[in-house]
Amino acid sequence: MKAFYAEEQKRHDPKAFLSSGAPQPNPEQPERVERLLAGALSAGCTIERPRNHGLGPVAAVHTPEYLDFLEHIYARWQRIEGASAEVIPNIHPIARNGSYPASAVGQAGYHMADTACPISGETWQSALWSAWSAVDAAEAVMSGAPAAYALCRPPGHHAFADVAGGFCFINNSAVAARVLRKQAARVAILDVDLHHGNGTQGIFYARPDVLTVSLHADPVRFYPFFWGHADERGEGLGLGYNFNLPLPRKSADAAFLEVLAVALQRIRAFSPDALVVALGLDAFEGDPFGGLSMTTPGFSRIGEAIAKLDLPTVIVQEGGYLCDELGDNLTAFLTGFGGKMR
Ligand SMILES: [Zn+2]
Repeated sequence: MKAFYAEEQKRHDPKAFLSSGAPQPNPEQPERVERLLAGALSAGCTIERPRNHGLGPVAAVHTPEYLDFLEHIYARWQRIEGASAEVIPNIHPIARNGSYPASAVGQAGYHMADTACPISGETWQSALWSAWSAVDAAEAVMSGAPAAYALCRPPGHHAFADVAGGFCFINNSAVAARVLRKQAARVAILDVDLHHGNGTQGIFYARPDVLTVSLHADPVRFYPFFWGHADERGEGLGLGYNFNLPLPRKSADAAFLEVLAVALQRIRAFSPDALVVALGLDAFEGDPFGGLSMTTPGFSRIGEAIAKLDLPTVIVQEGGYLCDELGDNLTAFLTGFGGKMR
């Protein structure tokens, strides 16, 4: 299987975030790339550098206002006397009523959901190359590859059309889905990350052409808290095209695979022409987030089950944080997936 990754994706190096109000080292570290690359190579992937696709595929998902913010906010922030080294918001609108501030501080609060996505001078380029990896993986699948893997880092599924959050800036899975839509009438996105894919849900919430399905730790007491509940089913034309499957905390392989079967049945009923897997590996029992209790062989079984859909598939890396088994878990998923591929 082809895998896509560019060195520029490693330059984004966020320093801190607030966890229960306390400053902590940011877990979305460049070192993740080394572990994931090793895991992809072990699974037999060939690594290719993506091409520069410009802003087009990203602007198909995100508002121009937001992209302008992402590109320029770091330089603007540096001109504020006494400001932090990284762009971190400290005020948010409690409702988005259409008013848009001119100030950098106001816009940071408008476009950043939390403190987990600090923006440095390298963030914009890293996020763009991460998205371009997803574009090339989608194009490989459109050119006839049964599947391709995008080593997207920084990740993307918490990014909405105009909001960053949870380590995410550009929604790579959504970008891949929009590229696939050029050929595929219907695309399904299956998100198996520990956390609900709230940005992806938000981007396609009112659309019937992209089915969004997410398995994740129950957000009633877990990030992202305000989204990911079972009663969020879409709106307008998109009503019935969003499907959330929250799992009790510490659910292990058997429970996850049982709920995955329900998700896959819903995807079959949608009869998509192509699939995006938003592949988080942070449901692992040894992941620092500790929300679910999947094992390494469990990821292999997730891969096997998804491969049975027999769809052209773009696998987009989402979460999964530093632990000894991070690379092994990717190898397990890709091997399980590939083992069933025709
Ligand atoms: Zn996650």
